[in-house]
Order: sequence, then structure tokens, then C-alpha cells
Amino acid sequence: MHVRSNSAVEHAAPLAARLRGDLIAPDDPGYDEARRVWNRMIDKRPAAIARCADAEDVAAAVRHAAARGLPLAVRGGGHNVAGTAVVDDGLVVDLSAMRGVHIDASGRTVHVEGGATWADVDRVTAPLGRATPGGVVSETGVAGLALSGGVSHQRRRDGMTVDNLVSADVVLADGRRVRASAEEHPDLHWALRGGGGNFGVVTSFELRLHQLGPQVFTLNVAYPLEAAARVLRDWRDAVADAPDELSTAGLIWSLPVVEELPAGLRGLPYVGLSGMWAGDPAEGERATRGLRELTAPLIDMSATIDYLDFQRSLDPFFGAGPRRYWKALYLDGFPGAAIDATVERSARRPSNDTLVIVRHCGGAISRVGAAETAFGDRSSEWMLSVDSTWHDPIDDAVNIAYTREFWNAALPWSDGKTYFNFPGLFEEGDAAVRDSYGANHARLEEIKAAYDPDNRFRLNQNIRAVAAQRGGRP
Ligand SMILES: Cc1cc2nc3c(=O)[nH]c(=O)nc-3n(C[C@H](O)[C@H](O)[C@H](O)COP(=O)(O)OP(=O)(O)OC[C@H]3O[C@@H](n4cnc5c(N)ncnc54)[C@H](O)[C@@H]3O)c2cc1C
Repeated sequence: MHVRSNSAVEHAAPLAARLRGDLIAPDDPGYDEARRVWNRMIDKRPAAIARCADAEDVAAAVRHAAARGLPLAVRGGGHNVAGTAVVDDGLVVDLSAMRGVHIDASGRTVHVEGGATWADVDRVTAPLGRATPGGVVSETGVAGLALSGGVSHQRRRDGMTVDNLVSADVVLADGRRVRASAEEHPDLHWALRGGGGNFGVVTSFELRLHQLGPQVFTLNVAYPLEAAARVLRDWRDAVADAPDELSTAGLIWSLPVVEELPAGLRGLPYVGLSGMWAGDPAEGERATRGLRELTAPLIDMSATIDYLDFQRSLDPFFGAGPRRYWKALYLDGFPGAAIDATVERSARRPSNDTLVIVRHCGGAISRVGAAETAFGDRSSEWMLSVDSTWHDPIDDAVNIAYTREFWNAALPWSDGKTYFNFPGLFEEGDAAVRDSYGANHARLEEIKAAYDPDNRFRLNQNIRAVAAQRGGRP
């Protein structure tokens, strides 16, 4: 135990005495740093932050919050745009010091502690030519991403991260520790694969590994914005029957303001295609050639590179600092009218830094049945995400309104299923959660009743316990 100040001892002495890690209180020097999350719009002031060193610490913190009726937030990588990793006047169970990663003796899976980032995982697995489907920005946390989906560069070949969750070590709402897998607590294992942080704190994930790299072919081509409607149509048609190795996205964004680019291109809005071939790089180069010649590109940065480098390549564009409001929606298809609306709305982004991206899903993702995991329906092949990004608080309202209007305008092409890892500020509430889980929602309510009847884990796409089941002990 390392107590940071007298105040921490006075206000949370029983917990501080139990922890092997740190208890950080408001008047401790590290408090402001510890309460900060990736989205700088979020400015919450927890009563204390328990920076846990191990699963026992996590259990002690969860019990402490329950005994005192303190609101509870759980922090993995702190990357959730809605800022659910922190809470005003409550206790943060912070796993950011629990980042161990090791490959299983079998070589088929990797064990990842609950506060690890994707950089921590890739560092261990990529040099061996292995990967589990994870985030495309290395500083994103494994935990939040892995519990609500997980859309990677290898998604069409290997499925989502939830599809690769073999087992999880979990601290439940009453502080008990269990393992969830196909054999142990299978209902919890099912719920964790898409149900988010609703059911407990995962202290360790076991994720399936796949052959990948060390080198991969990466698609990264920018075309003039004026060609956006045509490029997106041609891309849609070209990838409709693409092999599973190919996962791509169509996007509208602005080229970075960096010296490596010719002056005329810096900051220029463009339509782009990005993605990766999860297989032989030479084959990937051949398979994507047509996508790089749809019209004269502004710049084509497609190349065969180390997977590890690719996984870090977006980091400079997604640093903590700006203000963010993101929303995502699965589209039933990507018809011409949806493309035109996407292009038209993207052209009037209030901020040049805002990214509008349509990910091609399908492949292995769609071959998993809706009832097989809590994630639910996977029939949609297209996910639209509006990643609004700006710098000045004075622009908050206009950027949030823009994102919401865009999202609403896309609803006619969707059955309303949202992607919970890009959640805005979770303001849609229960109805959106219910709609997105569809037929799985009722089962999730029952499992919630069994594992977290008092809804201690509620800073998420919240599922409420079915009243009749309350108190049932799993
Ligand atoms: C720059 C950036 C890039 C991204 N790229 C991708 C991507 O490529 N693919 C993709 O699918 N998503 C991506 N995301 C979205 C990402 O999946 C979510 O933001 C996710 O919530 C991040 O997880 P985290 O652990 O960092 O989040 P945190 O903010 O720490 O936690 C979010 C929530 O997850 C739950 N949680 C966290 N840790 C635990 C735990 N140990 N046990 C139980 N519950 C826990 C809690 O409910 C918590 O409120 C990206 C996000 C950002 C900001």
C-alpha cells in the first residue's frame, strides 16, 4: 500500500489499508492526472481513485464502494469517448497499473490484464507473427473495446474481439472472483461478449491468437473530395465480394498538416480508402490495386509494412487533447442515396479534424449468429461513424448538434443498431440500448439480475436487472 496523503487516509482509510496499489484522493498531487481521460471534454472529480495492483485490490475496491453506496466507475485504457471511466463523487476502480500480457503455454491464446492497452498486447504478439483482433490505435484500452465488440484491421478474417474472448477473470459486484468461459459461468461468458462493463470488472482476458504478419499490406489512398460520391460507390461495389482477408473503410477527412506532405496537400479535405490485407502481402497488393486506381489520387501511401508499425501509425492523429463527440450506426446497406447524404454532410463538417468513416464489416463477423454472443445482430456489413473532433469549448454545441443530425439523417438506412464503443455521451438511454441488443436484451437483463442485481456497474450501455430475478446467486 502506498498512501498518497493524510487526506486519503482520513477519507478512505479502510480501503487504503487493503490496497497493494495506490489510493489517490482529491488533494493528492497526482489526482488531476489520474482523473483525466482521453476525451478532454470530460472533467469529472471522483471522491477517490483506487489504482489497483491486482485482482484482490479490484475486489477490495468494489466491496468498499458497495458498502458505502459510492458510485463506481471502472477504468481500463480510459479511451471511451463518453468518459465512463470516471465519475463525480464516486470511486474509480483504475486498472491502468495492471497491464501484464503473456502468451499461453499452448501458444494459441494471449492473457491480457484488465488495464492493458493494445500497444501492450501487440508488443508481445506481433514479433511472433500473431495477433488477436484489437484496436487500430495503440493507446486504446483492451478492456472497454473487448467487452463491446472490437473492430480491427483483421475483422473480416478473424471476427470481432468479442468473438475471440476465450475466457475472462471477473470480479463481481459482491467482490467475488470467478472465471467465465464456455465451461465456467457460460452465461457470464456470453454476456461479456458484447454486454460491456455491465457484469463485473474483468481483471484478465484470454484472447485467441491468429497468424498475422510480421509484415502486412496496408491500403491508404487519398482522392480529391470532389470525387467522393464516385469513389465511395466504386469502393462499395469492389469490396462487396472481397475475400475475408481484406478489411477496408471509406472515409472523408483532412490530410494532416505535416512537413512530409507537399504544402498544397496539408490540411486538404479528401475522400480516402484505408485498410489491411490479413494474409500474404504480395497477394494483398494485387487484390487492392483496383482500389488505388479509382481516379487520379492526391497521394497513395499504401505499402507493405510491419504490422506493429501499422498498429502505431494512427497514434499521432488520435492523441489526447481535442474535444470529441463520436456516434456510430450500423447501416442495412450503403445505397447511392446514403452515399450522397454522407458526402453532402461530410462536406459541411464544422471542424476540419472531424472524421467520417464507413467500415466494411461482414466476413467472419457476419458468420456468428445473433444469439451466439451478447453483441447481437451482425447482418449489417456497413458501420457509419461520425468522429467529431475540435479544440475550443465554444464550439461544443455546434459539433455535437452536427454529429447528432448526421446520425439521425442516417437512421433511414439502419435498423437503429449502434456501436457501443463509439457512444456519444450515452444520452439515448434505455431505448437505444434495448434496440441495439434486440432479441438478446431480455437474456442480458436476466444475467444482469444474477450477477449485478443492484446495478453497481452502470456507467456503460446500461442493462437493468429483471425485477423477478433479483437476488439470484449464480
Ligand atoms: C483513439 C481511439 C481509437 C479507437 N479505435 C477503435 C478500434 O479500432 N476498434 C474499436 O472497436 N473501437 C475503437 N475505439 C473505441 C474503443 O473501443 C472504446 O473507446 C473503448 O471503450 C475503449 O476501452 P478503454 O478500456 O480504453 O475504455 P475506458 O474508458 O477505460 O472504459 C470504458 C468502459 O469500459 C468498461 N471497462 C473498462 N475497463 C473494464 C474492465 N477491466 N472490466 C470491465 N469493464 C471495463 C467500463 O464500463 C468503462 O466505463 C477507439 C477509441 C479511441 C478513443
